[in-house]
Amino acid sequence: MKYQKLADMYEKSANTTKRLEKISILSNFLKELNQEDREVIYLLLGEIYPDYDERKIGISSQLAIKAISKATGINNKVVIQEWKKIGDLGEVSEFLTKKKKQSTLNLNKSVLTTKKVLENLRKLPELQGKGSVSKKIALITELLTSASPLESKYLIRTILSDLRIGIKENTIRDAMAASFFGLDQKSEAVKEIQSAIDNSNDIAIVFDAVKKGDLKNLKKITLEVGKPIKVMLAQKAKTIEEAFKAVGKPCMVEYKYDGFRLLIHKKGKEIKLFTRKLENVTKQFPEVVEYTKDFVKGDTFILDTEAVGFNKKNKEYRPFQEISQRIRRKYDIERLQKELPVEVNVFDVLYYDGKSLIDEPFKKRTKIIDKIVKNKPYQIIRAKQILTSDEKEAKEFYKKALKENQEGVMFKNLESNYQPGSRVGHMLKIKPEEKDLDLVITGGEYGKGKRYEWLSSFILSCKNEEGEFLEIGKMGTGIKEKATTDTGIGISFEELTEKLKPYFLQEKDKKVKIKPKVVVSVTYQEIQKSPNYNSGFALRFPRFTSLRPERSPKDVATLEEIEKDFQNQKRNWRYG
Ligand code: AMP
Repeated sequence: MKYQKLADMYEKSANTTKRLEKISILSNFLKELNQEDREVIYLLLGEIYPDYDERKIGISSQLAIKAISKATGINNKVVIQEWKKIGDLGEVSEFLTKKKKQSTLNLNKSVLTTKKVLENLRKLPELQGKGSVSKKIALITELLTSASPLESKYLIRTILSDLRIGIKENTIRDAMAASFFGLDQKSEAVKEIQSAIDNSNDIAIVFDAVKKGDLKNLKKITLEVGKPIKVMLAQKAKTIEEAFKAVGKPCMVEYKYDGFRLLIHKKGKEIKLFTRKLENVTKQFPEVVEYTKDFVKGDTFILDTEAVGFNKKNKEYRPFQEISQRIRRKYDIERLQKELPVEVNVFDVLYYDGKSLIDEPFKKRTKIIDKIVKNKPYQIIRAKQILTSDEKEAKEFYKKALKENQEGVMFKNLESNYQPGSRVGHMLKIKPEEKDLDLVITGGEYGKGKRYEWLSSFILSCKNEEGEFLEIGKMGTGIKEKATTDTGIGISFEELTEKLKPYFLQEKDKKVKIKPKVVVSVTYQEIQKSPNYNSGFALRFPRFTSLRPERSPKDVATLEEIEKDFQNQKRNWRYG
């Protein structure tokens, strides 16, 4: 397929804010998309591989500037000047390509295809180490030199992972349903497509099945051991009474462990570990591989667990922040393993010996855990739980969880299935400190005085139902003046700035726009209505508590949750 055709579609979609129009543009495009071009569907989402694949493009604005400069023959400095003026590097590239085409006789007749674009972009994550930067620039420049102005705009936006055409996974899902199923089947098709996406995390495979126009083909797409899936998330409850009301009596009450989510996949001898961001962290946790081999029965399975840190001397459980560095660290693994040991708490099983269990009720899945996990405290155990209808008993259990330094409790309905990627109302969390949120940093401002080199305030964003990021406040406290070295606890202005730098999208005056990548946990005093931010809300006194490297921007708090917290807060003022 000609890349121009895709670029035209991007542009049409970008030019409308109406979701239904976007769906209609997209569904016309999908109808014409041949099966052999099915991987174009990754490009629609600004990706080059399926969601479960860890290889991402990862190009910084600085590198993109160099490629634009090379492709257009215009000095780096001029490109930067234009960037400061126009604000968007994609548009800068479009503008400069147009200018170049006007001034030179265009002898370059080669036509850019989506195949060539994918081929070059897929080489980018493979390049590492010495000399890789110039090779990356060459690959991008090659594409840019045969691109039209519009193509160059979207090439640049793609490599920066900032497509901004308003197409998300659920837009594609709805467009697929609209293109290939009749009205009578549409709502069932949407459901089945969603479930096929959740099971496979590969939208191109789903497109293949959809193209056949038969719901049966979609139903065949099921979990595959070894391929990470999105986890099921919980909604919040304020009180034990509210939680019981939502999930029914009796229900399972479990410890809500203060660690990080770890999905354990075992297929024969091979064991893989994934975070909730679908990152493979097997190498970082060799001991967990051993615990799984030694204490979990079964040949193939997927376990959903929480890994919690503990103090090896007194065996006290430790907060997440203390072990978070283990998730990223690729060296010194042995030392860290000893210093920051983790215990794995198994709370769900999604696949067992050749069968997906996600459509089975929770009561059945949790019984399987009892049968297959041999408890080995401080290594691997089944999550602590009680089956109860009694509020007092639940309260005692909650207190016990807090006493053991855990975050709170989970209430789980016994009959419910496992819905990957959804925040469900049949699993509810209760924790004492409700005033914290996971948000993503989308902007910042350079400081004054000795902080002039670093960002000293950070714009925080939540997301709406469409997956768009909306600003909700500025944070400057909870961050340290001095670098924190190796402790992994806390972060300095300098460290946070460095972490964010590769994702800078725009710099104007002292303000920076940042690609939503870095997720942080934040506490606050209160939520207020505010016209200053496009979410319509503002956090009063937001304070940084920790980085959440294992969480994706897709996991941040939703506008709906914030609205709910805001309402609850009002209720508490009235009655509290
Ligand atoms: P939150 O991070 O506050 O949205 O809470 C949801 C997280 O709690 C999940 O993603 C898990 O990582 C974690 N968690 C801890 N214990 C459990 C449990 N028993 N069942 C389910 N999730 C748990």
